[in-house]
Amino acid sequence: MTAVLSAKGLSAGYAGQPVVHGVDIEVHAGEVVCLLGPNGAGKTTTLLTLSGELPPIAGTVALNGATTTAPLHRRAREGLAYVTEERSVFRALSAYDNLRCGGVSPKDAVALFPELEKCMRTRGGLLSGGEQQMLTLARALCRKPRVLLADELSLGLAPLVVDRLLRAVSAAAKETGTGALIVEQHAHKALKMADRVYVMNRGRLAMALTGEEARGRLDEIETAYLTGVSGRGEDDAAPPPAPPEAPPAASEHTNSRPPAA
Ligand code: ATP
Repeated sequence: MTAVLSAKGLSAGYAGQPVVHGVDIEVHAGEVVCLLGPNGAGKTTTLLTLSGELPPIAGTVALNGATTTAPLHRRAREGLAYVTEERSVFRALSAYDNLRCGGVSPKDAVALFPELEKCMRTRGGLLSGGEQQMLTLARALCRKPRVLLADELSLGLAPLVVDRLLRAVSAAAKETGTGALIVEQHAHKALKMADRVYVMNRGRLAMALTGEEARGRLDEIETAYLTGVSGRGEDDAAPPPAPPEAPPAASEHTNSRPPAA
């Protein structure tokens, strides 16, 4: 089966200096793939390169089976959605208008996240962090992307909100065939729904496992690669420190780059 998104021998970095080396990744329709690794492992750099935000230094990226060097906005037209830890809402626009701007039916968004119904007339900048991220994810998922890249979707959010977001990603994979590649600090939560798992360390893939294998080897993975960042026991522990509730400047994507779609 052709992967909806794949990378072969991918090296990527900044100013010509690779921080990601020779990575092979595949995401198939309908599966949730989790990319784990310690801070600085190269997860965000990998997602930026897969999305078209960052050009590869070596290797190739293929979308829907065709090698591509297109920028993010063109990959978005071909069915790629990219959601980052930055809550990409237009602060001055209502939730309703944020959805309409993204070409998404507010009704569909409410079907996905009923919590959004009461917020429709509220300006994006006044929504809570969780509501903003639901809005962002609704805008991505309601377009039924062929592939979703999600980078620390739930950073700083309460465990219950994290569950809601991850369940929505899993449902999109199972119900509409979206292939999802997620970087998630809540490793235990993400692994519960992962079909496959890649573990990155120091810019290289250290492990490629099925979800079941990863769940069986979580202690080993955690000890070797994730100590202090996995979110182990987060269900009964305090959530990680929350960032300020105020969202960043209106932007769909990281690094103040222009919106994809
Ligand atoms: P984290 O979990 O902390 O977000 P990560 O696994 O996503 O980490 P990256 O953000 O991809 O890792 O960073 C990989 C390496 O690239 C790190 O050494 C980081 O310092 C470096 N790096 C990241 N962004 C830039 C940049 N804009 N310019 C130069 N180096 C960068």
